[in-house]
Amino acid sequence: MSFLGIFRRTGYQGPVSDHFDGERFIMPGNPFDKSREAVLKWMLTREKSRWPARVDQPPQVRPERTVGADRVVVTFVNHATLLVQTHGLNILTDPVWSERIGPVSFAGPKRIVQPGIRYEDLPPIHALLLSHNHYDHIDMETVLRLFRDHKPRILAPLGDGDWMREAGIPGIEEMDWWQTLPLSADITATFTPSQHWSARGLFDRCLSLWGSFAINVKGQTFYFAGDTGYGPHFKTIAERFPRIRSAFIPIGAYEPRWFMRYQHNNPDDAVLAHQDLRAEHSIGIHFGCFQLTDEAWDAPARELKLALEKYAVPAADFAVPQPGSVFSYKL
Ligand code: ZN
Ligand code: ZN
Repeated sequence: MSFLGIFRRTGYQGPVSDHFDGERFIMPGNPFDKSREAVLKWMLTREKSRWPARVDQPPQVRPERTVGADRVVVTFVNHATLLVQTHGLNILTDPVWSERIGPVSFAGPKRIVQPGIRYEDLPPIHALLLSHNHYDHIDMETVLRLFRDHKPRILAPLGDGDWMREAGIPGIEEMDWWQTLPLSADITATFTPSQHWSARGLFDRCLSLWGSFAINVKGQTFYFAGDTGYGPHFKTIAERFPRIRSAFIPIGAYEPRWFMRYQHNNPDDAVLAHQDLRAEHSIGIHFGCFQLTDEAWDAPARELKLALEKYAVPAADFAVPQPGSVFSYKL
């Protein structure tokens, strides 16, 4: 995988919409501007917590090869990677098995926990749902490996097909917000908004879209929020998908707030999102694996507990998983 992608300047070409201005994607109503000055200010003023080099974790789990039509089984692998299994279908969200994430394999944030499932123990993978092109969500080393070993369908945002084809993966199914594709006779995936942005290099800011996915099974929804700040989109998604059995919501990568609030939930925001989505159950994701921002590695779990108390949400309704945690939902 070439690091030359960091110089990419061209992106999606298509009609203007409420979230595409003809060149770049935009988040309607979002005041966030990720200007170079703001990045520089963050770099110069950072008060970065010290993360452990490695943390203990439970043993890795071996998932079932196949799960029938009576259940949905969700295994938290790490970061934003989840294995979702039902109706004989095995789906991965934003798969990351690499040691480090970034444009080159020897630099970039290094993982402090092992994936909850060994790569070799994965069941046959039928589909990848990719939320946006940040390196911690589209890890090309992992995607190329999965493509070679499993030949899955790959659903990704508008604008990510060309560079992924150049990187060796043809046939990306690019999706706009609210577009739905069938994954099987019983299951569909709808690409839904998130409040975020995209870039892999120096010149490609917002040239491709970002978002979240609603996986719809028998009138019930399993919702993968991708990367997102807190915004009105959660309520809109709940209107379209009124029965969310489980929502996978980011709870990490949120300090400092002046810079992160429009692009990353903090745990307080995550509880508000859980309520706006009217999710029966939520699972915290996007924490405790790679140090991306300034909060302590164990802060998301602590602060989520406080936020659940603050909003009187039962702790059992919003899980903080460890790599390898398995959640089973009866259909
Ligand atoms: Zn991101
Ligand atoms: Zn991320």
